[in-house]
Amino acid sequence: MAANILLVEDEPAIQELIAFNLTQAGHHVLRASTAEAAMVLVKNALPDLVLLDWMLPGASGVDIAKRLRADERTKHVPIIMLTARSEEQDKITGLETGADDYITKPFSPRELLARIKAVLRRRAPQMTDDAVEVQGLRLDPVTHRVAGHGQTLDLGPTEFRLLHFFMTHPERVHSRSQLLDQVWGDHVFVEERTVDVHIRRLRSALEATGHDSLIQTVRGTGYRFSVQP
Ligand code: CA
Repeated sequence: MAANILLVEDEPAIQELIAFNLTQAGHHVLRASTAEAAMVLVKNALPDLVLLDWMLPGASGVDIAKRLRADERTKHVPIIMLTARSEEQDKITGLETGADDYITKPFSPRELLARIKAVLRRRAPQMTDDAVEVQGLRLDPVTHRVAGHGQTLDLGPTEFRLLHFFMTHPERVHSRSQLLDQVWGDHVFVEERTVDVHIRRLRSALEATGHDSLIQTVRGTGYRFSVQP
């Protein structure tokens, strides 16, 4: 389960150590030392998860968490707060701002990785390796295979990610811009038309077993994965 993780930490040694451990575990790490730098990175590409140090120069980690939660585009990004403080009240404040979890320094790399995995499993099911099945359409992230009623379907890597996201977020309308953020990780440098191209390819790959009807166009809004006609 490789995730794009934004690490916001102002102490160089700690930032280095955490980034090293995350990279070793297969994650891609973007780093920022201030709230301002973090917001620029988030604006360019939505990370899968944010590791947020509580105490930063200028705006604090709590401020960043509040800003992320207040914005429609970023309000569902999983956040884990890192803090040197272990008081119960701080923990409550951290979780009230919208953080998904809270970890007190010093922590072991193993503990951090376990927390990241747990939060991703809970908040971003498309990031996990669990197989998903809907009406005979089965996608397995481990073997990277898709099958319709047991028949193997041939999907390109982008169509695979797109289908995985749809299957783990069914019955909801996703705008093109949201899909670019969630599936491409980039809504700035990729054109929205790109989404339509890959939706077409995905539908045609699913046609063989009739599962293309699960990918619905919602006029003027975007796309939806739904079992309801
Ligand atoms: Ca700090």
